[in-house]
Amino acid sequence: MKTKTNAMPENASFSDLGLSPPLLKKLQRQGYETPTPIQYQAIPPILAGKDVVGLAQTGTGKTAAFTLPILHRLGESGDEIIARPIRALIITPTRELAAQIDKAVRNYGENLSTRSTCVVGGVSLKRQIRPLKQGVDVLVATPGRLEDLIGQRIIELDWVEIVVLDEADQMLDIGFLPAIKRILALTPKDRQTLLFSATMPKQIRELSNKYMKNPVEISVSQISSTAERVAQSVMFVAQPDKTKAAIALLNNHKGQRTILFSRTKRGCDRIARRLNGNGLNAEAIHGNKSQNQRTRALEAFRKGNTDILVATDVAARGIDIPDVELVLNFDLPQVAEAYIHRIGRTGRAGKSGLAIAFCNDEESKMLRDIEKIIKQKIPVREHDGTLAPEPTYDPNTNPDAERNYDHTKAKPSEPYEPDSHKGFGEKRKPQKNQGHKKKTKPGAKQNRTDPGKPQKPRRNRPGSRARKRHRSEKGKG
Ligand code: AMP
Repeated sequence: MKTKTNAMPENASFSDLGLSPPLLKKLQRQGYETPTPIQYQAIPPILAGKDVVGLAQTGTGKTAAFTLPILHRLGESGDEIIARPIRALIITPTRELAAQIDKAVRNYGENLSTRSTCVVGGVSLKRQIRPLKQGVDVLVATPGRLEDLIGQRIIELDWVEIVVLDEADQMLDIGFLPAIKRILALTPKDRQTLLFSATMPKQIRELSNKYMKNPVEISVSQISSTAERVAQSVMFVAQPDKTKAAIALLNNHKGQRTILFSRTKRGCDRIARRLNGNGLNAEAIHGNKSQNQRTRALEAFRKGNTDILVATDVAARGIDIPDVELVLNFDLPQVAEAYIHRIGRTGRAGKSGLAIAFCNDEESKMLRDIEKIIKQKIPVREHDGTLAPEPTYDPNTNPDAERNYDHTKAKPSEPYEPDSHKGFGEKRKPQKNQGHKKKTKPGAKQNRTDPGKPQKPRRNRPGSRARKRHRSEKGKG
């Protein structure tokens, strides 16, 4: 498989890519003057019926990169089709992304007769079944609900011509890979398969080797360019001081469209409450909120009625909200790659953006991992907003070296509670390699001892059940 990374000519235009006149008209109305690099590279091979692996993240214009040629291809032979079987299937990891892609398909296909619908968990089945019974050309779905409806024989995939796997690496993270394989096995072998992923872990590579035919590989990996476009900085803040620091910082950026990332769902709610209590305008979005609440929160944010969206990673990934000015990483993510997705919420479609991360002592190893993958040092931001001199170590050549700052004041962070997919209506699978810590019961004492220090056996801890059992056994013996 050869990777196409050819540069795009300056005068590249949509009309050179072979798209049909109704689509070109729509793009003109949409105000898209030139194709983005992923569109320039992906549209011609997709139009030619080839399988394509696109290494690209959201914000690169990848939705249009696959939607436009799909609409073109369906339009070529679609008019005489009366029964309307599903001909293009787009699979995404999250409900929000599915809804967004469905909206894009309808929007770009405004001048065509193509019908699209979306099936995702967490919303009434009845309402989703009606359009399916009437017949759709394009189905956008999350894997759980899709398999549900296949099981109920409401959806058949026998006529699918094109399958898109979007955000494949996130589907892998969530544990959707087995479902994807089952779904692919139900589609015709001679289908066209398009796979988009921000990263290319081994399992995704294997998936493409097994299920795709000679794919053209296109890489517009924005990993470094997003990082370059976004002005990043990191502030060293002890965990208990983070909320206060966030309030101060957000007051300085009042009215700016901001996404604040918290690791935990409870954290999201607590932070949103504190921000609102301090004259800011925030709303939380995470896996424990109902689909309606999430849709309403996103809509309010999109319209500018809410300034700050307080979100977990899962809830925010893939969401396209233009003009996000600031991304505040209240907590650093559990996986370094997630940092790129988070800061990619700002600086979209060529615009610049601001990303500030809070880092406590425990998170400094993660900070170094992030710097390694973005291949740059993140400038340190002082609490008065000034940027400190560049750190003296190079994360690429000497990743284990310490930075030249003192973060001894930082305290242990709250226990990590992974975002749940239960609320998504999808089957919940354990996530691998996420470094989850064991949940601590609310109100339980946190272990603040040095992790390197050997722990007392439980039976030696006063008052413990193990001690009582040990003593009574000893008494008996
Ligand atoms: P996506 O990566 O698909 O989430 O797209 C990111 C954003 O870029 C969306 O808001 C699109 O509307 C916008 N966009 C996509 N293609 C173009 C284009 N050729 N010119 C300008 N904006 C675009």
